[in-house]
Amino acid sequence: MQFSTADMQFMRTAMELAERGQFTVAPNPLVGCVIVSADGRIIGQGWHTAFGQAHAEVEAYQSVSSADQPLLAESTWYVTLEPCNHVGQTPACAALIERIPPKRVVIGIRDSNPAVDGGGTERLRAAGIQVDVGCLEHELAWQNRRFLWNAETKRPWVVLKWAESRDGFMDGRPQQERKPGAGGFPITAETARPLTHTWRALEQGIVVGANTALVDTPQLGVRSIEAPSPRIVLLDPDGLINMEHALIQRNDDLIYVVGPTNSPAKKHSCHWEVKEGLDTLLERLYAEFNLSSLLIEGGATVLNDFLKHDAWNEIKCWRSPAATGGGLPAPSIPDHSLPLPHGIASSGQLGVDAWTNRLHSRHASD
Ligand SMILES: [Zn+2]
Repeated sequence: MQFSTADMQFMRTAMELAERGQFTVAPNPLVGCVIVSADGRIIGQGWHTAFGQAHAEVEAYQSVSSADQPLLAESTWYVTLEPCNHVGQTPACAALIERIPPKRVVIGIRDSNPAVDGGGTERLRAAGIQVDVGCLEHELAWQNRRFLWNAETKRPWVVLKWAESRDGFMDGRPQQERKPGAGGFPITAETARPLTHTWRALEQGIVVGANTALVDTPQLGVRSIEAPSPRIVLLDPDGLINMEHALIQRNDDLIYVVGPTNSPAKKHSCHWEVKEGLDTLLERLYAEFNLSSLLIEGGATVLNDFLKHDAWNEIKCWRSPAATGGGLPAPSIPDHSLPLPHGIASSGQLGVDAWTNRLHSRHASD
């Protein structure tokens, strides 16, 4: 199906609306909707604002003024994701559209959720509406990469993140200085912080290993931007951490991953042993804690484990212009990684620091 320039422009508007939910909709998908009259005017628009809230189609429908209501019968709807056909926390959007019904519905990507998959489209077609699927599909698949991956694998989308010096070190101190309580070793400048915090806020959980927790005592917050903080997932299967540690004290947002030797009575603990493998850990974090995505913050051992087991989807990496001349080597970006899909920046600069964003080659789209 070839889409017109106007189709793509309206779908792009819907995609930009969807993006407004980026910190609040997970584990739901990002969805935007634009309603266009027969003479090409936007008469309604909406987006899914937060998990449990109204769907984009309902928001868009409710935004149509009473003066424009008569135009709905000849309208075209642009929806980034196939309208739902199941009654979940809200009534089915396909039923809402079917009742109107508009002349045409343009859909970005199909919903691979088994309760929907194709059903919304069939229902609209059965109501006599022209339905065209696939407008801006590569960009929209990227926008909803976490949701699509969750539906396919029942695991969180995994983003590896680190910062390295120009000569490839994550921490410039010699090993004997990287001891408990030593504190963090900043690689990037202050100017990088808002983007680092955005990277955190985009995912539902931040994973940190016991050694990094002991040495750096990281805050892992998002304070330089307006967004809710993700959960902290602290990996301590060997029981290295003392119950007085600052991260352990954060009872509510902490998911404490414990092994056979430590089973503290924490509100949110997840039992996992290293020998069970990372796939099992990921399955548990998705099934038991509903985490649709994870940002792996470190340290080097944890990052290298995820790389070794190929248990990642995306990499975000800072590189500073300064050299440390030694220290803890940073991981390497694997060869089987790709730039992001067409139209989405894979690298940039913020202040003095440069960033790179890569995608696992299994997600190659075209
Ligand atoms: Zn819906």
